[in-house]
Amino acid sequence: MKIGCPTEIKPQEFRVGVTPNAAQEAVSHGHEVMIQAGAGNGAGFTDDDYHGAGAQIVGTAEEIFASADMIVKVKEPQAVERRMLREGQVLFTYLHLAPDPEQTRDLIASGCTAIAYETVTDDRGGLPLLAPMSEVAGRLSPQVGAWTLQKANGGRGVLMGGVPGVGPAKVVVIGGGVVGTHAAKIAAGMGADVTVLDRSLPRLKYLDDVFGGTFKNQYSTAGATAGLVREADMVIGAVLIPGAAAPKLITRAQLSEMKPGAALVDVAIDQGGCFETSHATTHADPIYDVDGIMHYCVANMPGAVARTSTIALGNATMPFMLALADKGWRRACEDDPHLLNGLNVHAGNLTYYAVGKALGIDV
Ligand code: NAD
Repeated sequence: MKIGCPTEIKPQEFRVGVTPNAAQEAVSHGHEVMIQAGAGNGAGFTDDDYHGAGAQIVGTAEEIFASADMIVKVKEPQAVERRMLREGQVLFTYLHLAPDPEQTRDLIASGCTAIAYETVTDDRGGLPLLAPMSEVAGRLSPQVGAWTLQKANGGRGVLMGGVPGVGPAKVVVIGGGVVGTHAAKIAAGMGADVTVLDRSLPRLKYLDDVFGGTFKNQYSTAGATAGLVREADMVIGAVLIPGAAAPKLITRAQLSEMKPGAALVDVAIDQGGCFETSHATTHADPIYDVDGIMHYCVANMPGAVARTSTIALGNATMPFMLALADKGWRRACEDDPHLLNGLNVHAGNLTYYAVGKALGIDV
């Protein structure tokens, strides 16, 4: 099969869909891999790295879309890319179609077979192609929160781990799923005093069994949250209610009870944010002040560490990419119901129920 990987063209996107290691594996399976010149630059991969992996370097996206049997990307195809998709071609990438009727219409019209990373599932009820980005955002959140806490950035001027004779920062993580667990591990590793709140008792039991000595956990109620937030130097918002907007767990009125210069890191901002005062920011201008409390609300946090994110995503997507290339999409999906769950559009039809329901399109 001919696998094509164009340069990402969405603004501020530095990741790339195929790493040199994934390209090498595909080549060793007998496939042809085409990479657009410069596609890996943002993630620190040169054309020479891809050439060394056995891939062919191609000048333009047009050439890739014209001859590849399968396009592997990171972000949803932009309008100019959608116009190049064609019947019978497989598209494997993040799509997020439910809030995007225009893209959905174009993919249906193209006749392509579109498999979305975000709806591929695993045996434990997880989303294996979303999890790596939650891991990255989770681990990044104490790092950006620590920077936000620095005096020059408007923060409280508190060091995460303290020093001998001075206590550590108090960090509260709301939501103990993938993001929250990784955030708590890193914050605790930096020496902070960390408490994780969650609404799921099984999750709290798991956190207690595995991380009991590393960080504390508490059942999440409005009262428990308010008490911890008053004492916190940093609060990391990491809740998710699948399919719904994030609940607002800290109101504007509560900010006046917090320590001046405390940091709020709202990782759940891509679902609307879990603090009332959150609004999405960018890597170019990531923080802002409301009532003396510093907010960090970047909606695409993994973009800040494009190299780590690209490799983590590539590790997760590669087995599926190889299955699609080795068997063809139909056999690969017949053999793996989790990959089949990724199928969103095929041959002029929408094939994913939740997207159809959200957009009022028959599935
Ligand atoms: P997850 O499903 O693994 O975990 C969410 C956790 O929140 C669950 O354990 C759930 O029990 C808990 N929860 C729900 N309501 C709660 C409440 N009221 N109080 C306390 N806990 C509650 O989800 P995840 O992968 O960790 O993702 C968390 C959020 O981070 C999502 O909104 C996701 O979209 C977002 N995210 C953002 C970025 C970014 O760049 N900003 C990157 C990755 C993920």
